[in-house]
Amino acid sequence: MSENLFDILEAGITDPAATAIETPDGRRIGYGDLVARTGRMANALLALGVQPGDRVAVQVEKSVEAIILYLATVRAGAVFLPLNTAYTPAEVGYFVGDARPRVFVCDPARAETLAPIAAEAGARLMTLDAGGQGSLTEAAEAAPEGFATVPRAADDLAALLYTSGTTGRSKGAMLTHGNLVSNTLALREAWRYSADDLLIHALPIFHTHGLFVATNITLFSGASMIFLPKFDPARIMALMDRATVLMGVPTFYVRLLQEPALDRDKTAAMRLFVSGSAPLPAETHREWQARTGHAILERYGMTETNMNSSNPYEGARVAGTVGMALPGTEIIVTDPETGAELPQGEIGMVEVRGPNVFKGYWQMPEKTAAELRANGFFITGDLGKFDEAGYLHIVGRGKDLIITGGYNVYPKEIETEIDALPGVTESAVIGLPHGDLGEGVTAVVVPSGTPALTEAEVLAPLQDRLARFKQPKRVLFVEELPRNTMGKVQKNLLRDRFAGLYD
Ligand code: ATP
Ligand code: MG
Repeated sequence: MSENLFDILEAGITDPAATAIETPDGRRIGYGDLVARTGRMANALLALGVQPGDRVAVQVEKSVEAIILYLATVRAGAVFLPLNTAYTPAEVGYFVGDARPRVFVCDPARAETLAPIAAEAGARLMTLDAGGQGSLTEAAEAAPEGFATVPRAADDLAALLYTSGTTGRSKGAMLTHGNLVSNTLALREAWRYSADDLLIHALPIFHTHGLFVATNITLFSGASMIFLPKFDPARIMALMDRATVLMGVPTFYVRLLQEPALDRDKTAAMRLFVSGSAPLPAETHREWQARTGHAILERYGMTETNMNSSNPYEGARVAGTVGMALPGTEIIVTDPETGAELPQGEIGMVEVRGPNVFKGYWQMPEKTAAELRANGFFITGDLGKFDEAGYLHIVGRGKDLIITGGYNVYPKEIETEIDALPGVTESAVIGLPHGDLGEGVTAVVVPSGTPALTEAEVLAPLQDRLARFKQPKRVLFVEELPRNTMGKVQKNLLRDRFAGLYD
């Protein structure tokens, strides 16, 4: 039996007339229509020379047609490769050169600039704009609807997804049909998803969160999603009256809390708010609960593994934790030096094993061998610990760990203390080169309100709360923290900017 993600998706459709995707201008695409249109698109891809295993690279705005292209690529047995819309032509050149796709789809406005890049990589260049128009759509509309989905094994590639590049150059994660299907089914169960759900989809679709978590779970449940082109608090507020689920990055929730109308009444029809991709500040979790009565459900995942853990649907959703391993997935915490499993309560490297874990990095056999153990565990690069109740806490990335005077300092602990101070919007704690200490603990703070805080006002209350070696040596104030498009704080940029502080 074929284990092509599309075959499994199609077999689960019980009502072809039900709406799969709704757009803000009122367009509704039913499940039957979605299948028919992926058939046309798959035939168009075939005519462009796409063979099973070929990559189809895509840098386009969010549209229904982009989702059809994703499904059609998978149907054709090819490998979907979405690229961040913020990437410059030079960055696109790197990814396209690395992945060597058969077809490269871009926005018509960029076609002229990107044509030489596509040509160099030997890819056919096609276009698709934000409204779903372009040479690719024209080709699909002219193609027949009937398409025999290419059978695939669970271990065959379905997608090549580059990581967000928060800690360095993005790596291509090879994801199989089995990875995507198993994770979708685990999440559907864990979050009690059903055909009655209506998701507010405001995430980008070039990342695992918006593409796989949000889209796959909706389509595999026969549910519906409203496709917003981007995060728009006013629109989301208006949709809460009839939607049931919102999935967001932490900044969605921080921004929505600034909406005066956000309260219990406004969110009464909603059943679930999910947060992930970056740590949700415990403060935000508490404030959201106080305002709406809903406890945000935080989960933890990454490009390489899809989702690993989730706070429970029923049971306590604990602020500042990412819950327990999803069914079928194992999570352990190990000693970063020896790899030995650590007892509960100790901080170490988070490692993950399960059907969700990727096949390896694209054309990086050494990196794959270094991070994917022979026993199947993937070394995530995140540091964490389990608490007594079995909840996983992510304390930060290994690369952000500060070693000062021989002591380990976990930035999140200090950030949590600083974020709770009056007059602070948010903070990032980093280590900067320091002659005596190796690294000096440094707090970068975004103040709220005027008059702005002083360095002493941040440091004084920390004296009773943190051991001396954890207390920042300096506090720097900035207007905002540098973030990538997924809302992740780019600490490497802060480290570069303030590198000479202790010289
Ligand atoms: P790169 O690997 O290229 O540096 P990246 O790790 O940010 O970029 P992604 O795969 O998009 O790329 O992000 C996964 C990472 O996001 C995780 O390893 C973890 O550090 C972080 N993350 C995701 N969800 C959470 C969460 N709920 N709490 C804390 N961190 C999270
Ligand atoms: Mg990563």
